[in-house]
Amino acid sequence: MSITAIRGMRDIYGPEMRQWHRAESIFRDVADAFAYEEFRTPILESTDLFKRGVGEETDIVGKEMYTFDDRGGDSVTMRPEMTAPIVRACIEHSLLHHSPTLRLWYGGPQFRYDRPQKGRYRQFHQFGAECIGSPHPEADIEIILLAHETLRRFGVSKFQLEINSLGTSDVRLRYRQALVEFLTAHESALSEDSRRRMHANPLRVLDSKEESDRRIAAGAPRLEDFFDEASSDHFRAVRTLLDVAGIPYVVNPHLVRGLDYYNHTVFEFTTDALGSQNAIGGGGRYDPLFAMLGGGEVPAVGFSIGIERLLLLWEAEHGQMATAEPHGIYIIGIGDDARIPVQLIMLRLRRAGHHVVSDIQRRSVKAQMKDANRAAVAYTVMIGESEIKTSTVVLKNMVTGEQQTIAQSEIERVVSQHE
Ligand code: AMP
Repeated sequence: MSITAIRGMRDIYGPEMRQWHRAESIFRDVADAFAYEEFRTPILESTDLFKRGVGEETDIVGKEMYTFDDRGGDSVTMRPEMTAPIVRACIEHSLLHHSPTLRLWYGGPQFRYDRPQKGRYRQFHQFGAECIGSPHPEADIEIILLAHETLRRFGVSKFQLEINSLGTSDVRLRYRQALVEFLTAHESALSEDSRRRMHANPLRVLDSKEESDRRIAAGAPRLEDFFDEASSDHFRAVRTLLDVAGIPYVVNPHLVRGLDYYNHTVFEFTTDALGSQNAIGGGGRYDPLFAMLGGGEVPAVGFSIGIERLLLLWEAEHGQMATAEPHGIYIIGIGDDARIPVQLIMLRLRRAGHHVVSDIQRRSVKAQMKDANRAAVAYTVMIGESEIKTSTVVLKNMVTGEQQTIAQSEIERVVSQHE
């Protein structure tokens, strides 16, 4: 029996890889435009980090983590998200001692043991950013704009920005009590999942997809009615800044996001183009998290975008990516005597920065020509017996079909002129 990749984990290769590179370079550029610095953390972390930092009642920690004991008997977890690891690292390296604000971005694989389907994988990849150190709405807006600019530059438009506010942590606590009372009164009509969540993580009941839960949620007390001045002011300022930036959004009072640590602004970019996996990215303010991980009072806000879903959305809007523009040079050698000259020409052209390829199967000239066509190169350079004698090569422009004989010493110059 042959061995295959693990369910829910994909190989990424071929034409799809071009889209990954495009996404990665766009995100790097956008992050740079916003003055965010890249941060890389290990894939494995102590299990306690996520238990404390994400919350034991969440789906992620409760049922989706890849957790195991390492050979030394320590419980470790393959990261299911990046915010807790980044906060851990900031505390561990005292990064806030040097600067009141940290602007950090990351990209990489995350692991969640969920039921795989299109757009939902057990290993998936995220780009994200964290703005650490400011309690003000300008930080929230910076993060939302960074996420929005990524989507815009990537060339997708069939999404909407949903936002909500969970208010200050005090407000959230008071609301939570009222919500639990309300849900208790309607317990028998709730789905099994919601009955389970109702005490541990009652806000999650509000964004349940079950029809029975939605009917009850529609009559639940509204968080907004519990807002104090600080909560209203913060939310109003975020909306004003979005208006000023000309970014359309809808307020979705049921948007709570799954994690325990959010307060004030939460947001999500959603789409109708991907079936049930409708979230492309999201985030929010997580002021309580630093304290939860022993780092004192440090306000922060962040977001993450799922790269697979971003690519799927692009494909839904534009179809398959067009084939690449012809580029590079294929060196065709004719006969055994050409082998060393081919190597030398390749060496020179590569050192001059060109993309160069040749046959390594010792195939016929015809087969090499076919290979050059398949490789979609911009030029072929052909060298055989008579070219070796005269120190020349035959250079063919594969786009126009134009062909000329040039001195070997001229190859770099001629190719650079044309490319
Ligand atoms: P979350 O941390 O759950 O808010 O996820 C942020 C983004 O990561 C989502 O909006 C998705 O785009 C992506 N994402 C989350 N879980 C998965 C998954 N299992 N497979 C693929 N993408 C995911």
